[in-house]
Amino acid sequence: MANVKEILDLIVVKINKKGEELIKKSYEFAERAHEGQKRMDGKPYFSHAFETAKILAELETDAETISAGLLHDVLEDTKITEEEMKKEFGENIVFLVNGVTKLGTLKYRGHERHVESLRKFFVAMTNDLRVVIIKFADRLHNLRTLQFLREDKRKRIALESIEVYAPLANRLGMGKLKGEIEDAAFPYAYPKEYAQIEEIIKEKKDLHQKYLKEVHEELKKELNKNKIKIFKIDYRIKHKYSLWKKLLKREMDIEKVHDIVALRVVVENIEECYRVLGIIHSIWKPLPGRIKDYIAVPKPNGYRSIHTTVFTGSGGIAEIQIRTKEMHNEADYGFAAHFAYKEKDQKKSNNDKSQFKWIEELKNFNYELEKPQKYLEHLKTDFFNDRIFIFTPKGDVVDLPEDASPIDFAYEIHSDIGDHISGVKVNEKIAPILSKLKNGDAVEIITRKDAHPSRKWLEYSKTNVSKKNIRSYLEKNSLLSKLKSFGKN
Ligand code: MN
Repeated sequence: MANVKEILDLIVVKINKKGEELIKKSYEFAERAHEGQKRMDGKPYFSHAFETAKILAELETDAETISAGLLHDVLEDTKITEEEMKKEFGENIVFLVNGVTKLGTLKYRGHERHVESLRKFFVAMTNDLRVVIIKFADRLHNLRTLQFLREDKRKRIALESIEVYAPLANRLGMGKLKGEIEDAAFPYAYPKEYAQIEEIIKEKKDLHQKYLKEVHEELKKELNKNKIKIFKIDYRIKHKYSLWKKLLKREMDIEKVHDIVALRVVVENIEECYRVLGIIHSIWKPLPGRIKDYIAVPKPNGYRSIHTTVFTGSGGIAEIQIRTKEMHNEADYGFAAHFAYKEKDQKKSNNDKSQFKWIEELKNFNYELEKPQKYLEHLKTDFFNDRIFIFTPKGDVVDLPEDASPIDFAYEIHSDIGDHISGVKVNEKIAPILSKLKNGDAVEIITRKDAHPSRKWLEYSKTNVSKKNIRSYLEKNSLLSKLKSFGKN
């Protein structure tokens, strides 16, 4: 049987003696409480709590979070009462365990449940984000032991994980967790597609790795020559589920996907990142339009890195990602690295509202109960979709869903601007209003008093803000013209 040392060994960031004692005590307490209970796989029930805590330790969360991970099923599944737990571990731990238990009673049954489960997540997040992180770890271990469940249950849990858990983890910047949740759920949610992807990866991985190896060797030499201190160069293989999603966007054409394997260069500071980019482009020609500077303009979930794709010279194409150590950590752990770890005092965890405004917004989003489908659409288009960044003439950044149009951009700035678009300049050139914007475009809206929305605009609006405004204009207008024609009769 496992022991508590395995958990403690995973903790990279130092914890103090008190934290270590707390984890040890929780370990023993939970093991005793679950004594005699078995999981579906025949293992002692405690193995689940243990693995959940290990995932949390790997995520670099704090001692309280790991402790609550060990105890997370004790209140629900054993005879231990809340009072007893409070006496042993104090209020913070009980608060976390209760939070996880409440989140756990949700089942995925169609859209309504789905929406309810999201809303509960949002409420939990605004109380203490650590609750959500524990729930993620709990779910990840359940996904990894999903083969022992009934088939219909398997599918339900897998789908919910992909549609609720993964997008949330992503939005919180927890890239590693998001990828692991998706990949653990993928074979159960979409078995046929999963098999297809496995096949593709088997076929392509070696070839891509070969290209990267060539690049790797030469790049290392060049960076040394230029005295750039390399913290780490490694390969990352694209997660299977995200590869599938990318293929869907590229007409299932694998030749259009260049980052099945990517080279990752980790250096000391931001300045060096740009120097590395310059060196790379002086050796290999970049593919046009494939340089993404997420350091200058981070993704909405906080992700920072520079991506570029180059022709390797031997006929290959390779993606290279450049980042600092700090960015490297953030990309994997997001909130866990930043927020959960630093916010030891639970009362303070409501701070930093600006960064988490979207969570508040989601919690308070006034959706009509009979239309859960709408709420989901709102989430999917406005919050969880891939985003593009558009610059205003003043250089401010507006973030919009992929395929957004100048109309979306205009309404994002002000409804009055949206209602009077007469023309648009994209990157200083006149462009059609009815068009799709690309990441990094600089957009200037030209307005005229007598310009107004038309029905056609709806086809080119992606955000709920612009759709709502256009519809309300059209409705008002058709009412007005009816009234006018009344006047004539
Ligand atoms: Mn559990």
